[in-house]
Amino acid sequence: MAAYQLAIAGLKVLVLEAGRSYDPVRETPMFKLPREAPLRGAGGREKPFGFYDATVDGGWEVPGEPYTNAPGTDFRWWRARMMGGRTNHWGRISLRMGEYDFKPKTRDGLGADWPLSYKDLAPYYDKTELLIGVYGGDDDLENTPRSSPGVLQPPPAPRAVEMLVKKHATPLGIPVIPAHLAIMTQRQNADRLPKLLHPGNALAQRVLRQSMQSRAACFYATPCGWGCSIKANFQSTTVLLPPALATGNVDIVPDAMVREVTVGKDGLATGVSYIDKRTRQDRRVKARVVVLAASAAETARILLNSKSSQNPNGVSNSSGLVGKYLMDTVGAGLGGQIPMLENLPPHNNDGASAMHVYMPWWQYKEQLGGKLDFARGYHVEFGGGRGMPGNGSFNFLENLTQGAYGKSYKEAARRYYGSFVWFDGRGEMIPNEDSFCEIDPEVVDQWGIPVLRFHWKWSDHELKQAVHMQKTFAEVITAMGGKPGSEPQTDGNKAIAKGGQIIHEVGTCRMGDDARTSVLNQYCQSWDVKNLFVTDGAPFVSNADKNPTLSILALAWRTTDYLLEQMRKKEIG
Ligand SMILES: Cc1cc2nc3c(=O)[nH]c(=O)nc-3n(C[C@H](O)[C@H](O)[C@H](O)COP(=O)(O)OP(=O)(O)OC[C@H]3O[C@@H](n4cnc5c(N)ncnc54)[C@H](O)[C@@H]3O)c2cc1C
Ligand code: SF4
Repeated sequence: MAAYQLAIAGLKVLVLEAGRSYDPVRETPMFKLPREAPLRGAGGREKPFGFYDATVDGGWEVPGEPYTNAPGTDFRWWRARMMGGRTNHWGRISLRMGEYDFKPKTRDGLGADWPLSYKDLAPYYDKTELLIGVYGGDDDLENTPRSSPGVLQPPPAPRAVEMLVKKHATPLGIPVIPAHLAIMTQRQNADRLPKLLHPGNALAQRVLRQSMQSRAACFYATPCGWGCSIKANFQSTTVLLPPALATGNVDIVPDAMVREVTVGKDGLATGVSYIDKRTRQDRRVKARVVVLAASAAETARILLNSKSSQNPNGVSNSSGLVGKYLMDTVGAGLGGQIPMLENLPPHNNDGASAMHVYMPWWQYKEQLGGKLDFARGYHVEFGGGRGMPGNGSFNFLENLTQGAYGKSYKEAARRYYGSFVWFDGRGEMIPNEDSFCEIDPEVVDQWGIPVLRFHWKWSDHELKQAVHMQKTFAEVITAMGGKPGSEPQTDGNKAIAKGGQIIHEVGTCRMGDDARTSVLNQYCQSWDVKNLFVTDGAPFVSNADKNPTLSILALAWRTTDYLLEQMRKKEIG
């Protein structure tokens, strides 16, 4: 986002990318079938999310680039080493943070407040949604804000299984409303939107018009996690980088592993040093302004590794808070089998390859009234039905058929196919002192760069929230006349996913009002180095239940507006 915004404003931008170049149109395997892949597309060590998942050269492990965990910690760190990063692969779930999410401490005394409020970011949410294309409904529930009229694209109709869940969840008091996903259900208006988004900027309007004209609407048939070569969903490589490059203002250097931010005697950033992975040589580039967007943890790593006699604790770290307050999303899931969904007539259930509806958090009042034993909420992502079968689609049959095989197994497969539902809670984690990353004093990666060491601890709030998720999912499954696949966990440590496993890690360079208690100001500008900015998830002060990427994009746009203003005023650059 930052490269796009700066390039259309006429600045010369150099993008250094640690991964390889990636052509989403030529390389995306979206039209392949599971049967064409080894093990019918099942996941493995190199491809944990399945053979065709869009992450190349990355995953839970990046060969030659380890990270470590402090004793007692089992943090997982998903990294992509490719142009566009994880946006080639992500789930496209794009929920806005609400008013409460920016001021959590004011509401319940825990964590910290953001130095900005919802109304500061709302215009950027609108603009980002228009730019990237997001479908959703216009419900306006507590702390679940609606977009301005005309911003969202129409949501797809709920699937049969989604309607059934809604029917049975509603009497339990759980709302089920259209989900918001960065997937286009219709083509963008390539004449109107560029003028609306970039008034008075002919260059921006031209490149964005071309880009929007090249994007098609979703045809509801292929898995978004494999990437989208028709550009119907959002990934940086199809939506932001092409128009940025079309300005002629951007150069991208792939295989460039940034090691540190270099700083001059005046304390300002002079550029960065990086390893050219193809030649293994150290290189330096100069810049008037440095923007870090290497993902929350990696940005902390770069800053902490930028040590010198001038900055013995790393750059932008006078507060000592770089790496601190690392957060992920609370995750817990439960599945079940619903007899009412057995023997469904064959029908196409694919749709946009994610949920069409979801459950926003619904118990704000109970929580404020002290009726729950944990703070902060979660939303529920769920699904089921007769999507294209792949490896593992019939894994649950064993329990139901007691080991049938041959003809009776095939009959059972037809009977039960589409009768399973799953629910995943995605909840807020409150930042704590025990969850952070730092430089491991002993381990370096294959480029000689010191690696990160993670420390992690869930608090009771998160553990209890995970138990509440499981209990809720069991209630909904039972209300549907079904049976949960396992007993809901009552032990939070068993119910909750590992730190990092939901792949929503944020924090590490939090923003704030005070340079002593934060790393960045509300415009994601370093307090210490005023020509240094951060536009990934690192500036997050809290990690609301809303998946972070839409907020990362909206914040990045706000940051670049401020950055450009500062340059115009000659405050920086
Ligand atoms: C399977 C999956 C599903 C997800 N689903 C969702 C979802 O539904 N909704 C949601 O909001 N989020 C989701 N996420 C999370 C989402 O992908 C991230 O929040 C988002 O991509 C973060 O963007 P980023 O630019 O900060 O980091 P990244 O996307 O990780 O990009 C960082 C980039 O920096 C490069 N880089 C790293 N280190 C260096 C270095 N030292 N030098 C130079 N370059 C470097 C990387 O190669 C990469 O290209 C999901 C992620 C995954 C993997
Ligand atoms: S479901 Fe739609 S958005 Fe997703 S990959 Fe297929 S065409 Fe693209």
